[in-house]
Amino acid sequence: MKILLIEDEPKIAEFVIKGLALAGYEVTHADDGAKGLASILESTHDLVILDLMLPKLNGFEVLQQARATGNTVPVIILSAKVDLPDRLMGFDKGADDYLPKPFFVEELVARIKALLHRKTPEQIQQISVNHLSLDVVSRKVQWFGTTALMSQREFSLLAFLARSPGHIFSRQQILKHVWDIGFDPETNVVDVCVLRIKRKLARGPGEQGSPIESVRGVGYRLRVED
Ligand code: CA
Repeated sequence: MKILLIEDEPKIAEFVIKGLALAGYEVTHADDGAKGLASILESTHDLVILDLMLPKLNGFEVLQQARATGNTVPVIILSAKVDLPDRLMGFDKGADDYLPKPFFVEELVARIKALLHRKTPEQIQQISVNHLSLDVVSRKVQWFGTTALMSQREFSLLAFLARSPGHIFSRQQILKHVWDIGFDPETNVVDVCVLRIKRKLARGPGEQGSPIESVRGVGYRLRVED
């Protein structure tokens, strides 16, 4: 489980990171609002812990901008602003929970567990683009009349492309988002995975039969019907 902590106070950050590491969570830390927002948008986290009074962008702005892109990551606001209007504003901007400072790290962990536990049913269960439909829970994919079960990795790759139909992604971008690998491992894992997806969803011979289109020398994209 990967958690992003957006907090500018070094002492609190250190305390939260230690507490969450003890509870078995992997924590990434951003110490201002702009870095925090970039991190929310660039990588995948299971949950975000967000301070409100932050340099560059405040927590409300971070949350509002993240939600405006359609990002649904669960967010717990952790703030010294304890008045009701601030709390209501937090929920209004799309927070899932609000924990006032000072706090016990045990309570934070309990709230994280509660949120992650009920996360799945509230999330989008179906992604549909043209003739392609992906069921997030069962990892069953339908492409025209063909139905196939994907492995976790195959499903993630297909879902990643399906979120931006027609957009070409390089192998490096796919590696970063689907494998969480930020360097070039000099292997062809992406190509192999794409090939497996193509085989599973083949509805005829040749490239046209697949929902994934190879763009020579550049990367891959989800095929968009004319
Ligand atoms: Ca702060």
